[in-house]
Amino acid sequence: MLGRIVTIVVLVGVVFLLFRLALRKKRSSTPPPTPPEMPPPPALVACAQCGVHLPPDDATWRDGKAFCSKDHAGL
Ligand SMILES: [Zn+2]
Repeated sequence: MLGRIVTIVVLVGVVFLLFRLALRKKRSSTPPPTPPEMPPPPALVACAQCGVHLPPDDATWRDGKAFCSKDHAGL
């Protein structure tokens, strides 16, 4: 009689432990919520000659450096 009770208690304990383990695995497998990706702000480049800031598309590029005008680029 006592043996059966001990067996039942042990079985309940094992099931409880497995249940907790499964819950923890489930929780850890879900990735944490990530913040929505923000678009990068429009970057400005500085003229290598006078330091004025302008969008890269408007800059004149020479030797990997940005210039505000062809004049400053030496072109
Ligand atoms: Zn310039």
